[in-house]
Formats: sequence, structure tokens, C-alpha cells
Amino acid sequence: MDKLEKEDMMKHAKKPFDQCPVCGGEIVEKEVEKLLRGGVDTAVVKVHADVCLHCGERLYSQETVKHFEKIREKLERRVVDDFELVGQSFQVAISC
Ligand SMILES: [Zn+2]
Repeated sequence: MDKLEKEDMMKHAKKPFDQCPVCGGEIVEKEVEKLLRGGVDTAVVKVHADVCLHCGERLYSQETVKHFEKIREKLERRVVDDFELVGQSFQVAISC
């Protein structure tokens, strides 16, 4: 099997839903930002997800979820050399 064929198969394999499992709405693939937290650090991950046009539910492939877990683990262990530092996060307490 050549590389192109394999990629094509993976494309088809990673479409688990035709419809939103929550509301039955139409699903489109989009690039979204997912915020991951590990320990006190957060990472913003740009990732492709299937997003419901109706309720906004995001569906991630198993592959993507595995990546999330790895990133969280790296954050917790502060193994962040290959992450790009893009800003700071702040904690704000509001009392009202
Ligand atoms: Zn939906």
C-alpha cells in the first residue's frame, strides 16, 4: 500500500459521526482551539475537530484525545521544551 492510499483510509476512518450525538445536528470539520490544563500550566492546542453546527458540541478523534493526554502529562511534568510560549495565564478571584 502506498502512502497516499494509507492517508486516504485514515481520513475515512476518522469520521465516526455523521450527525451530532447530542442533538442530531449537522457536523463539519473545523480547526478549533482546545485548552488543556496540566498542573498549573495550560496549553492552547490547535486541532481539527468535528463540530456540530447546531449546538457547538466538539467531537475529537481517538487519536486526538490520545494527543491531549500526552500534552497534559507533559504539562504536569513540565516537559515543555517543544511547546511554544505564547503568553501568561492569570488567576483572578472575584468577590461580589
Ligand atoms: Zn449538536
